Amino acid sequence: MILPGTTLGVLGGGQLGRMFTMAAHTMGYRVAVLDPDPDSPAGRIADQHLHAAYTDAWALDQLAKACAVITTEFENVPADTLCNLETRCSVRPSARVLALTQDRVREKNFINQTGLPTAPFRVVHNLPALSAACNELTPPYIIKRSSLGYDGKGQMLIDDPAAAEKAFHALGDMKCVLEKQVNIALEISVILGRSYDGTIVCFPVAENIHHNAILHMTLVPARVEAVLARKAIDMASTLAHALEYCGIMAVEFFITKENELLVNEIAPRPHNSGHYTLDACVTSQFEQQVRMICGLPAGEPRLLSPIVMVNLLGDLWENGIPRWGALLHHSNAKLHLYGKLEARPGRKMGHFCYLQNDLEKALVMANDIFNHLSRDPKM
Ligand code: ADP
Ligand code: MG
Repeated sequence: MILPGTTLGVLGGGQLGRMFTMAAHTMGYRVAVLDPDPDSPAGRIADQHLHAAYTDAWALDQLAKACAVITTEFENVPADTLCNLETRCSVRPSARVLALTQDRVREKNFINQTGLPTAPFRVVHNLPALSAACNELTPPYIIKRSSLGYDGKGQMLIDDPAAAEKAFHALGDMKCVLEKQVNIALEISVILGRSYDGTIVCFPVAENIHHNAILHMTLVPARVEAVLARKAIDMASTLAHALEYCGIMAVEFFITKENELLVNEIAPRPHNSGHYTLDACVTSQFEQQVRMICGLPAGEPRLLSPIVMVNLLGDLWENGIPRWGALLHHSNAKLHLYGKLEARPGRKMGHFCYLQNDLEKALVMANDIFNHLSRDPKM
């Protein structure tokens, strides 16, 4: 067991790293963050901030020397960096897991090989493969870059096969997956912690509402049949065991209009749809991340209240600083801001949660608060 007082390392200094750092600090750990941005949200509160490239040999040396264990808060850390660190200290989740989840093609093949369904897809390396894929799948499609996509970036909707070539070029002529657009009834996610010895503890299933392919809202408990929620937890657990996973892992699912459950993607880290755990569970996903990577027993994931989480994107700053007063006067609303200096459209600046015994009432309130946050340019 890695006990309080020890230094934990994080690759990536965004909001997920920041909330991990806060949880680790609460428990008495020290944290070192590697992120090239000198103003990174996690770096600014960490005990040590190495602002260097993820491939910087000196920074990796410093990190390996200082830390008992190293984790990641985003999946696009170069695989070589993790392999390098793994020869010198514990990296959880492993370099192998990160390499797999960095690449949509490898990830989807792995999911299917594990026996679990995804939306129908084809791998597209070039134009002949693209036209073959368009012949095999029925439109509309979503074309996604195989690597480096997030929050809907690096993907495009294709309504008509005639537009496929243009979309492939627009994404940079690189390896992509062409996916059939699924008739989604609902999106859900399962966040779990898996310990070094293979014990799995799942948080309650979350229901996710996306706007423009970016998470907008999470509702818990998810409004799904208990059998489907159970099935999603079983599928996520199957994937975590198959990966011999250690740490926090999130699995996103689509529930189709035909009531099929399809795996969308795996995130090898805490997840935006798990932020509700900070305000509504006995243990948050970030405390659980600390516990899992340190070899501590899992904390209880029990939900204490129905809750709605709403993301605050940079768009909300368009006409000035949001009207925080409209949120803060609600005693059941919880504001979380990530300390980012510049608000850009689509950038995750923070989130808020609304807790109430009745989920439908919480949803009405959360929507109402959200609608009052942005400034009217005429005022
Ligand atoms: P990202 O890595 O950007 O989160 P996702 O593959 O999760 O990429 O896609 C983002 C969102 O776009 C999904 O949550 C979903 O709302 C929508 N989406 C993605 N793929 C499909 C699909 N095959 N059919 C329907 N909607 C999709
Ligand atoms: Mg996603």
